[in-house]
Amino acid sequence: MKRGMMFVLGAVLLAGLALLFGRPFIAEQAFRRALDTNVGVDQSAAFADGLHLYVCGSGSPMPDADRAGPCLAVLAGNQAFIFDSGSGSIRKLGRMGFPMGKLRGEFLTHLHSDHIDGLGESLLQAWIAGGRSSPLPVYGPEGTDKVVAAFNAAYQIDSTYRVAHHGPKVANPTGFGGAAQIIALPDGADSQVVYDQEGVKITAIRVIHDPVKPAFGYRIDYKGRSIAISGDTVYAPAFVAASKGVDLMLHDALNKDMVAALGAKLAERGQPRTAQIMHDIQGYHASPEDAARAGKDAGAGTLVLYHLVPPVPARLIEPLFLGQAPKVFPGTLKLAQDGMIVHLPAGSKAVEFASGL
Ligand SMILES: [Zn+2]
Ligand SMILES: [Zn+2]
Repeated sequence: MKRGMMFVLGAVLLAGLALLFGRPFIAEQAFRRALDTNVGVDQSAAFADGLHLYVCGSGSPMPDADRAGPCLAVLAGNQAFIFDSGSGSIRKLGRMGFPMGKLRGEFLTHLHSDHIDGLGESLLQAWIAGGRSSPLPVYGPEGTDKVVAAFNAAYQIDSTYRVAHHGPKVANPTGFGGAAQIIALPDGADSQVVYDQEGVKITAIRVIHDPVKPAFGYRIDYKGRSIAISGDTVYAPAFVAASKGVDLMLHDALNKDMVAALGAKLAERGQPRTAQIMHDIQGYHASPEDAARAGKDAGAGTLVLYHLVPPVPARLIEPLFLGQAPKVFPGTLKLAQDGMIVHLPAGSKAVEFASGL
């Protein structure tokens, strides 16, 4: 039977049931179904061994109804990692069935507020949902120790309530908060392996986001598959060099013409400070064309643009945002959407896109 016909019959049946039993019956059925399919289910258990990328935040500091602040997460075999925690992103991870119990660490690309403003929620979920008995390692540039200590202090009172309410078997006091791990690249070095355990290798790469220094991108390697994450940067030769041959590159992207138009409108409406910000931010992010060039020069198989500035609220606007980028990058090029999961199964060249929301 055709899907359309099935849908119509299903709708008629539901309407009939609603007439017979009223709305509470339908609501009860829908609720029971959601319980069965979602609650407590580790969606990742069905994934093949390999690398899996979760887009938990494809947005930027700008208000965006559909996109959380910058956040990417990676599942590599049995180990999980989060790269930046923009606001709202941890809730997306929860909806995507991210295996918080497998979380081994969080990696910060830099300390701009939009990349850390969800870190408190992230640490809380790692502790409670992840059942941790030791603080979560948080890797990042110099200053990460201050940021982590401040989040620990901000959540300390809340932690005592949770221990008192649920008991130490649920909220083990020794697992609360984060433990900073400072990444300091040696002078003259542009990259360094900062995590190497059970077949998962993570390399920190110096990128260009002045005046934010240092700022890092990361490369993740596992069983012959690889992902590179740019963080915030302009076209950075060191990032391109360290990303050679990756299967999947995530790169930030800012459309300068669109941001300039936003700035002009803000100035026209008497908002000179925000207009100035629209001018300043154009100098430290990659344009979609720059990102496409980075992906092409690195020989990346697939390129996904994230940290989208300005917001791209509808598919209709995507071609305007992308500009010439599709002509520059020869492989598959997509804009990131919150909820997107990209599977890179071990022992294959496949790059499979799925939706986790
Ligand atoms: Zn930044
Ligand atoms: Zn940013």
